[in-house]
Amino acid sequence: MRVSKIGFIGLGVMGKEMARHLLSAGHEVHVYNRTKQKADELVAYGAKWQDTPAEIAARTDYVLTIVGYPQDVEEVYFSEQGLFSVAKKGQVFIDLTTSTPSLAKKIFDFGQTIGVETLDAPVSGGDIGAKEARLTTMVGGNETTFEKASQILSVFSGKVTYMGEAGSGQHTKMANQIMIASTMVGMVETLLYAETMGLDKEKVIEILGSGAAANFSLASYGPRILTEDYSPGFFAKHFLKDLKIALDEAKAKNLTLPGTQLATDFYQQVVDKGYGDYGTQVLMKFLSESN
Ligand code: NAP
Repeated sequence: MRVSKIGFIGLGVMGKEMARHLLSAGHEVHVYNRTKQKADELVAYGAKWQDTPAEIAARTDYVLTIVGYPQDVEEVYFSEQGLFSVAKKGQVFIDLTTSTPSLAKKIFDFGQTIGVETLDAPVSGGDIGAKEARLTTMVGGNETTFEKASQILSVFSGKVTYMGEAGSGQHTKMANQIMIASTMVGMVETLLYAETMGLDKEKVIEILGSGAAANFSLASYGPRILTEDYSPGFFAKHFLKDLKIALDEAKAKNLTLPGTQLATDFYQQVVDKGYGDYGTQVLMKFLSESN
């Protein structure tokens, strides 16, 4: 395998695991995160700390970013010490954050003006997928850039698919979140119903997980709900961010998504109640408390 100089920005639940896989694969990995302490383990494992996104860009050929919100992405790419401040022709920047298709296009267009190739490559598969290097990665941008970068993305992905022009990765991720929105509501209502009827919830998860109702949310979050483990996983506040982007994109095309709207209303209330830093499975706690 060809060893690449890779920058990695954003070392949270997802990024820390993905950067670790890149190190394990033998790449030279330079890291930066808003809270420096979160890089300690990776630095002990061989990563090189840099003080700003600009210093990352100055030392690497590929830069991968996975921060929280679109405004964080804006800052990492466009601020005074951002990636674009020192970007060189031929570099490849890949944003793995779940963000807006319009920001993906803005990054792509700016990159084009200075000869930097960019991809929007959001991921699905949760904290478990990141830990086990079997994320699903949906990619927008130029296909030639995708071909160049797919070997790197494959290090932490079970599946990597090119979806089309810049922004297509983010649109595909929105389609993914629309599916999960109603699935989460269905999964939690299933467990509430089972509980109310006095069924053994562990057995319910096992049997439904073997039939037509099987799904990722039930398999990964169902068991956590049974032990009242509401730790993230996938932050409820980030899911709300995603659902709002999906609804905005749909609205811009006059598309109404009532199921997604309902899930968004629930997650807004979850966040308003102060549960945003829990995992998305906290919807169970929220709906139990409101019953
Ligand atoms: P997270 O744990 O909050 O990680 C985000 C990291 O980015 C944090 O460490 C944060 O720094 C850092 N960051 C934010 N702004 C920054 C900036 N301007 N400069 C440098 N670092 C910055 O969240 P996560 O769960 O890893 O999720 C990251 C993204 O992936 C989100 O967009 C989320 O929607 C998406 N996603 C998550 C999952 C999942 O299951 N967790 C699955 C698929 C996609 P601090 O340490 O200072 O907070």
